[in-house]
Amino acid sequence: MIRKKVIAANWKMYKTPDQAGEFLREFLPLVADHSRDEIVVCPPSIDLCAAVEAVKGSNVAIGAQNLHWEKEGAYTGEVSAGMLLAAGCTHVIIGHSERRQYFGDTDDTVNLKLKTALEAGLTPIVCVGEVLEEREAGLTEDVLRRQCLRAFHAISAKKVAKLVVAYEPVWAIGTGKTATPQLASEAHLLIRGEAAKAFGQAFADNLRILYGGSVKPENAKALMAEEEIDGALVGGASLDPKSFEAIVKY
Ligand code: PEP
Repeated sequence: MIRKKVIAANWKMYKTPDQAGEFLREFLPLVADHSRDEIVVCPPSIDLCAAVEAVKGSNVAIGAQNLHWEKEGAYTGEVSAGMLLAAGCTHVIIGHSERRQYFGDTDDTVNLKLKTALEAGLTPIVCVGEVLEEREAGLTEDVLRRQCLRAFHAISAKKVAKLVVAYEPVWAIGTGKTATPQLASEAHLLIRGEAAKAFGQAFADNLRILYGGSVKPENAKALMAEEEIDGALVGGASLDPKSFEAIVKY
């Protein structure tokens, strides 16, 4: 099964609009000829318009790091799917572990956000992954099953086509610890199984499941060589154009 890989940058709360423009002006020529993989950059919300402007006509797409599930309303600080689309975004990260850990995202709000993103025609990148205590207690499979089951709840197989999932073991995010390719593959197989139960085998066979957690130029090749790994969600190592280029070109 050939699945086109997605290499996505999650800039978290780094870079101003000017800095986003600077990064993209340096980065775009480095990857201009690269068609093997899809490239996505997810800057902070305040940078989205500048980033969309900077990538016009290029092979790089822009995604947001979060969205609210309602169309509009009294939700101070939030951004809707319609606003992201109007700004020119095509992708959105949902349920990143930092949102689950610090901002109250739950399996249920991930499900609401996923429904909204799919309805709007955005490509959602839904993050799942266990924390260290869960892995050490042998609960990884249970956690991944629960997160997938609840994220996918009551979503129609007809509407799910654009879904992308990122397996991000929380103990590997920003820590320099990377899951071994073997360990990541096992988790991806389990996630693919859950997607098959929810949406059918044909959908699951085509589902891109990215790995995230301290992906760097030095380990990208080994991770991307795994049949089960369909790309990467990259935090720290995506902040420098040359480092992200090296990952894209693994
Ligand atoms: C992330 O933010 O999704 C991530 C995987 O971060 P890092 O690459 O820095 O571990």
